[in-house]
Amino acid sequence: MKLSPIISRTVLAVSLAFAGTFVAVAPAQAAAQMQHKQVAGFYRTMIGDYEVTALHDGGGAIDSSLLHGDPALIQSLLARSFQNDPKHVTATVQGFLVNTGSKLVLIDTGAGGHWGGPTLGKLMKNLKASGYKPEQVDLVLLTHLHADHVGGIYKSGKRVFPNATVMMMKADSDVWLSKEIAAKAPEDAKVFFTIAQDGAAPYIAAGKWKPYEGIDEIVSGIAPHAIPGHTPGHTGYMISSKGESLLVWGDCAHVMAVQMPHPEIGIVFDSDGAMAIKTREDLLVKLAADKTMIGAAHMPFPGLGRVRKADTGVGYDWVPATFVNLK
Ligand SMILES: [Zn+2]
Repeated sequence: MKLSPIISRTVLAVSLAFAGTFVAVAPAQAAAQMQHKQVAGFYRTMIGDYEVTALHDGGGAIDSSLLHGDPALIQSLLARSFQNDPKHVTATVQGFLVNTGSKLVLIDTGAGGHWGGPTLGKLMKNLKASGYKPEQVDLVLLTHLHADHVGGIYKSGKRVFPNATVMMMKADSDVWLSKEIAAKAPEDAKVFFTIAQDGAAPYIAAGKWKPYEGIDEIVSGIAPHAIPGHTPGHTGYMISSKGESLLVWGDCAHVMAVQMPHPEIGIVFDSDGAMAIKTREDLLVKLAADKTMIGAAHMPFPGLGRVRKADTGVGYDWVPATFVNLK
């Protein structure tokens, strides 16, 4: 007769007890090693018929002294969000991959390992983990040419997206690709020009670098949306399908804990600080009223959410998208 494992153990325990023997129970195995690895950094949602995949490029920390506003207010807002180290405020970077059914469009490409240290530059790994290949990307749309958005388009002087056309507002291309403006830029800003120019070079050589202006729609259901101030040509992209929409807003805001409740607080990276603040304030009014889904480069991963007026009457709350399985 075969005893079930539970009965067998009971019989054994009873027999040992009867025998008056004490047996220490040995651990099943050695202490388990911590794994530390996270899940792959992508998260997917549907906007009508379009599949949108948020791709994590990585994260890090920024110093709150980069924010422009009343320091005491900034510190209290950070503390309210459990950001207790003002020198290391949690920061994140992501891009958004849109499959329209006929075109694969990547909006922003992360830092590509050219800027921000080893905690950034993971967008490509996550694009692959999400089931796509870089050669499948038809179009790269850039919100602007800062290193954490354009850096991922090139590696070792070559195109990372060999079949993609790269498009951005002409005003951004004109500034960041200008050798004259770069030469006059402050020393610590020169790296932004270098990365934009190094990234553009192989696409320009291949005839795949296409600055634009005055376009209403780039591909069906994806329209540029001017969000001026952060850089000269800073532009979001409105994705619309079957009555649903998502605005990829680039760098409309950087620090959720501070700039959602107080959109009038700026950041040093804005090339026209006053315009960036006015743009953010106006856009938040509209997005809260319309309940539009937002894809944000620097809100906590996956950077998908909506804004609503705060109950306090001052500023906004960022309401993150909740995790939903698609099938
Ligand atoms: Zn950015």
